[in-house]
Amino acid sequence: MNDISEINAVSYSTGKPVRIRISGGFIRDIMETGHTEGDPDLLVAPGLFDNQVNGFRGADFSDTDLKIHEMRQAVDALNAEGVTSFFPTVLTNSHENLLRIFKNLSNSLSDERVKDSIPGFHLEGPYISPESGYYGCHPAGFIRKPSWDEFAMYQEAAEGKIREVTISPETDESFEFIKKCTSEGVVVAIGHTNASTDQINKAVDNGARLSTHLGNGCANMIHRHNNPLWPQLANDLLITTFIADGHHLTPEEIRVFYRVKGPAKLILTSDITHLSGLKPGNYMFFGSRIVMTDDGLIKNPVLDCLAGASLPLRTGIGNVMKFTGCPPGEAFNMASANVAEAFGITDRGTLEPGRRADLVLFERNGYEIVIKQVFVKGRRVL
Ligand SMILES: [Zn+2]
Repeated sequence: MNDISEINAVSYSTGKPVRIRISGGFIRDIMETGHTEGDPDLLVAPGLFDNQVNGFRGADFSDTDLKIHEMRQAVDALNAEGVTSFFPTVLTNSHENLLRIFKNLSNSLSDERVKDSIPGFHLEGPYISPESGYYGCHPAGFIRKPSWDEFAMYQEAAEGKIREVTISPETDESFEFIKKCTSEGVVVAIGHTNASTDQINKAVDNGARLSTHLGNGCANMIHRHNNPLWPQLANDLLITTFIADGHHLTPEEIRVFYRVKGPAKLILTSDITHLSGLKPGNYMFFGSRIVMTDDGLIKNPVLDCLAGASLPLRTGIGNVMKFTGCPPGEAFNMASANVAEAFGITDRGTLEPGRRADLVLFERNGYEIVIKQVFVKGRRVL
């Protein structure tokens, strides 16, 4: 099939004009042109990859009745935000519900467009800390110790598509579980945890490689020396994933993450919920009233705590540049190349020949990323 198409824009990382030729859904070649053809303000970056998306625009991926068309709408809406790959993320729930949820999610992949944007699923919980302050808004009654036999049932329902599991290595069962997951190609992340330094290091020794939304899923009052943050920051084998919506972490925390880990060991996640993309106002969530404000804050006004995020990944990219002073290339890689690499999903994530033509064309308005065009596997979706 001779279907070569061309895109001319300015490279997100080098700042130089490039011509990208696409064929059969993949990047055929990329060349610097030496001069700008077309709009000099139009930049091109790899499509964004978000490994933590709980839902979008009304579709809740932990809904036991999620329909394929609802997932398709969420995929289309996320694509329009520049997100060309994401992991639907499933929270702590009962055994029966988790089986149903993963069955629904794997069924939704029968839609070709859904499948193109969903290379895997993320199970966040139920194997997390039972201590309040650490489990966050996960339903405490369903939190339990890691069990490989149980997880294998979820993986079967998911048709092998669970690529990431977030656990707290607070129990002896954790380490064998981590070893098993790692040997089966499932990436283990440490999160919602009050594990000790020894437990965190042992988890890493057994294969854990990520920290889930570091600095969140943590109690407000912690010991200044012995807490779960220092050992995760200090362990060079752990990649830090973090939320940069301007509400979940302070600019100083993000600057410290950047300096300690460096740009290659950071992954930006949105952690958005199904309320993201809806109008600000009052909603019911986990049986409680929560409020979404104009600036994207979602909180439970009674408990005075955050109840998820609502701002898309592109907002986080702008914030990382603003908070750390890093160049756009580094910030975009935290939301694309670094993610694909961490999960060994090597067909996408960079602007290189042979990779999928997942592209986002955008303009910058200060630190705001304005998405102009999006391509998934070479097909224009915006
Ligand atoms: Zn969480």
